Amino acid sequence: MKTPFHLMIIPTLRCPAKCSYCWSSEHTAPVMELETVRAAADWLAEMNDNPVTVTFHGGEPLVAGSEFFEAALPMIEERLAPRTVAFAMQSNLWLLDDRTATVLAAHNVPIGTSLDGPPQINDLQRGKGYTERTRAGMEVAHRHGLRVSVICTFTAQSAPERDAIVEFFRENGFVMKLHPALPSLRDDRPEPYALPPEDYGDLLVYLLDQCLAHPDSLRVMNIDDLVKAVFVRRGTVCTFADCLGTTFAVGPDGGIYPCYRFVGMEEWRMGSVHEKPTRAELEATPAWQRLAAFRGFVDEHCGSCRHVRYCRGGCPYNAIVPTGGEVTGVDPHCVAYRRAYDEISDRLNAEMFSGDGMMGFATGRRTGTPTGIMGLVQRMVSR
Ligand code: SF4
Ligand code: SF4
Repeated sequence: MKTPFHLMIIPTLRCPAKCSYCWSSEHTAPVMELETVRAAADWLAEMNDNPVTVTFHGGEPLVAGSEFFEAALPMIEERLAPRTVAFAMQSNLWLLDDRTATVLAAHNVPIGTSLDGPPQINDLQRGKGYTERTRAGMEVAHRHGLRVSVICTFTAQSAPERDAIVEFFRENGFVMKLHPALPSLRDDRPEPYALPPEDYGDLLVYLLDQCLAHPDSLRVMNIDDLVKAVFVRRGTVCTFADCLGTTFAVGPDGGIYPCYRFVGMEEWRMGSVHEKPTRAELEATPAWQRLAAFRGFVDEHCGSCRHVRYCRGGCPYNAIVPTGGEVTGVDPHCVAYRRAYDEISDRLNAEMFSGDGMMGFATGRRTGTPTGIMGLVQRMVSR
């Protein structure tokens, strides 16, 4: 089976919001030309024919406007045919109007938006009026049948409010994607917000327990991803897989980067879609070489960890932030990942050896709905 490929398109780094911990928004940045979208699709078409997901990220991608998406989505599909293209978008939805929603719905684009909890928590971190504008955009999205999941950024300030945040997600029926506030290579603004790794580990175990306690009203995508990784023995999201060479981001001017988090940083630029670099040319760039060193470091450093096969040292970007770009450690969230993976593996093993675990699940002889980790697995399979 061919490895799925992920292309992130960053139409602009501009964003109308002003979240306190955000390091990826500017207020006057340029917007991508359609010619660059065409060049990105042609570059990818020449590089491989793997199944591809194209995610529009930012800044705020909807700043590019409805005409951009009306032209870009069919253009990408056409130039990458006959392979199927799955789209996705990360947006605060403030600028979603009926015209843009119509084109996104026609191309089946699921959207991840952001709310960090009830308005008193969200607007404190993301700015006054943020909740209202995002909720208005969510209504437009729902009217057009667009699927919306909600990214919840937990900061050092908001993590103690976790009960109220979970309650907010349950009451509203939102699917949560947890995002721990991170330090950045670009500046030190997020430092007071960054969630310490130990607190992140506590939060993951707390959310695991909450998902188990409220199986019908709470879904946290990160918990699903962690459980799935342990169960299938393979990371299924970028943090827990080797992203180098299977993920690229294209910035507003056509610059190629290893991931959206590097866009705009000259030392991480690997070329331009307008020049159509080959894979061998990308592999020769200093940015690729530095990230390849991360892989080697993980093999050595994490060799004795029982989770290495499906953790892979975490995110290389997180790993190099503390050192300004040099590979001297794994993702500092190792502590959190290890805590969550230990908890899931130990509970899963206990369920297996309780005599009613895997056999009942695999043969269907089990009566009633399984609880515990196996219950989460079964819900994932049946979705
Ligand atoms: S650098 Fe991190 S966020 Fe980016 S694709 Fe890799 S694992 Fe994902
Ligand atoms: S949990 Fe930590 S030590 Fe284990 S593989 Fe992940 S990053 Fe490495």
